[in-house]
Amino acid sequence: MRESPYPMISVEAALHIILQHVAPLQPVRMQFGDAWGLVVAEDVYAAEAIPPFAASAVDGYAVIAADPSPVRRIIGAQPAGAMGTLTVTPGSAVHVMTGAPLPAGADAVVMIEHTSLEDDGYIRLHTQPAVGDNVRPIGQDVAAGQLVLSRGTVLGAAEVGLLAAIGKTHIAVYPRPRVAVLSTGDELVDPHQPLKPGQIRDANRYSLLSAVREAGGQPLDWGRIPDRAEAVHEALESALREADAVLTSGGVSMGELDLIKPYLAERGTVHFGRVRARPGKPVTFATVDGVPVFAMPGFPVSALVSFEVYVRPALLRMAGHTYVHRPRQRVILEHAIRHEPDRTEFQRAIVTRRADGRYTAHTTGYQGSGRLLSMVGANALLVLPAEQEMFPAGSELEAWLIAPVREEETPANS
Ligand code: AMP
Ligand code: MG
Repeated sequence: MRESPYPMISVEAALHIILQHVAPLQPVRMQFGDAWGLVVAEDVYAAEAIPPFAASAVDGYAVIAADPSPVRRIIGAQPAGAMGTLTVTPGSAVHVMTGAPLPAGADAVVMIEHTSLEDDGYIRLHTQPAVGDNVRPIGQDVAAGQLVLSRGTVLGAAEVGLLAAIGKTHIAVYPRPRVAVLSTGDELVDPHQPLKPGQIRDANRYSLLSAVREAGGQPLDWGRIPDRAEAVHEALESALREADAVLTSGGVSMGELDLIKPYLAERGTVHFGRVRARPGKPVTFATVDGVPVFAMPGFPVSALVSFEVYVRPALLRMAGHTYVHRPRQRVILEHAIRHEPDRTEFQRAIVTRRADGRYTAHTTGYQGSGRLLSMVGANALLVLPAEQEMFPAGSELEAWLIAPVREEETPANS
């Protein structure tokens, strides 16, 4: 029996090792408008208050709240956009628009809906205002000097809008990791090519480039490499020079032409070369000159599941994310599953939130590691612990959610 020289480690141990060896990339400064989806690498303080002046929150009339007169003379209008010169005195009111500065003298605004127009430029108030009604004081939303975004915050739509609002036009962020993706195998041809006998099309390069993009990385297509030592070495060396991380598929098993592991061992450190997992047992993690290299098995599902389990968290860490794991959810099996109780298995599944609030899961059919269709449409990886062989219907298991959970179709939401 010929055995791999690499010890078989657990999924948890593998993840732990990876996260110990990858670190956030060097931050860069960029225009805030280009920074959506990135993680902030500085604490951001507001230089000015929002709003910067006391502003009317509604269309209406600026008045003195304590003034008892039910009818007031309109002395003018104050639109949004500039400070006015009008001063409200007892018995008078200024017509104000939403967002307009509160005129001098006024301390409240009465909504237009609570007033009626009298003859000769007077209004009648139908409510008695209190001081501060419908007025947004200076700094109500953001105080000058306030910490508004802390390092580690992901820039979503609200965060980008906030940067605009405070005039923070340049921001330090962690860049998208540049990830070189290459596939190996003499049997592979490009997708547009016709197949000769013995050939298959290269699926992994495209699935992995897409997965990198989905994880917020910048994918670099490093091509399709034949199973020749010099070609593999050359491709790896150029990728190591140019990229922040390198992903390969194929060539990590026990075959004569499985050239990746020996080269990584010679050039750097192989931190693990086998994981007690299905699919993806021969997945390999190495660092060469500080660059992480993930060498994944060639079977398309093995490559993609390995990406999910090992590579995605690493890329998120490099991009500065604090939370690098997919959400995990306890689910109830809709049907029985039997599996080989030798390794942790990640079965592709569809998780549904039922009308009664329970989360249930069924698998996507035959789970062969070549069958990409088992991953198509899946929104979860169902984790089958190594120790157990049979999981009856109704068993509770952990699922890693890789896409939004389905909602049960009910008359109310269908
Ligand atoms: P390997 O890990 O190189 O031994 O490959 C395992 C299996 O995956 C073989 O059947 C390969 O033909 C297949 N395979 C390898 N690379 C790819 C790829 N890029 N796209 C599709 N199938 C692949
Ligand atoms: Mg191969």
